[in-house]
Amino acid sequence: MPLVTRRTLLAGSAATVLVAGADPAAAAAPLAVKQTPGVYRYRIGTFELTALYDGIWYRPITDKFIRNAPFAEVETALADAFMPADKLATPFTTLIVNTGEKLVLIDTGTGGQIAPSAGVLRANLVAAGIDPKAVDLIVISHFHPDHINGIKDKDNDLVFPNAEIMVPEAEWKFWMDDANLNAAPTDLKLTFRNQRRVFSDIARNVTRFEPGAEVAPGIVTLAAPGHTPGHTVFAIHSGDQSLMVLGDTAQHPAVFARHPDWQAAFDIDGDAAVATRKKLFDRAAADRMLVTGYHFPFPACGHLLKTASGYEHVPVEWQPTL
Ligand SMILES: [Zn+2]
Repeated sequence: MPLVTRRTLLAGSAATVLVAGADPAAAAAPLAVKQTPGVYRYRIGTFELTALYDGIWYRPITDKFIRNAPFAEVETALADAFMPADKLATPFTTLIVNTGEKLVLIDTGTGGQIAPSAGVLRANLVAAGIDPKAVDLIVISHFHPDHINGIKDKDNDLVFPNAEIMVPEAEWKFWMDDANLNAAPTDLKLTFRNQRRVFSDIARNVTRFEPGAEVAPGIVTLAAPGHTPGHTVFAIHSGDQSLMVLGDTAQHPAVFARHPDWQAAFDIDGDAAVATRKKLFDRAAADRMLVTGYHFPFPACGHLLKTASGYEHVPVEWQPTL
């Protein structure tokens, strides 16, 4: 076996540098060091959709994370998904819907306030050529911080200054109730306080909707309770095409589509979360409907296939044209 030493390696790279001037193709290319933009476009009928990546958080988990499964099974699921042993991969993807009349943003990302590895939504808006001032409407699925924090920047200024904000009535009712805040365990109190930080001074400009409401032509809301009391999904219809925007009906599909019965610690009502997940996933699988999930791997859209024990997420093929 030839012995490659540090010296021979260095000698090799010196040789590369020497010939670089003579032959550009042999030049050592500089490392790019940064990632490319996370933007993916697709169409539903005449609507143009833009999936915008906000980054990823490797959420540390313990044996308390899944309430109704032995931790060894959770560890196996993480290993099967090629995730670190004690961390759940949690990517964030927001969705812009251009209906031709309105520019609608569904959920707003982390605002760079959740993890250092998330908060690239604004850079990706720029890369997509979308001016935050041009967004007409923000629709929120639920009030967890990774969905609402992007409404404001760290200085509490509105990121989308011209957008109307629409939120589920049941979310507002549950989270903005001070009696619920006072009764909440300590760590959940942070969630309640964050909601007051985001919403209190803009409350009069926030519109609340009931399930079934059409928040914009072609975008219909459906109650999907469990993860949170007012958690909402969106059915987008244009022409003869549809997309279901699943929000947090399931977190990362490699864990929660494969194990649809699992109740995560962050589900306010675990039984309801599981019932909602199975109902919506069964419908999507039976109808072979295109779905997108907020914590699905970017570009976060694809299909769900029913399996013997759960569901498998089949990502879309990247399309070079619209
Ligand atoms: Zn979430």
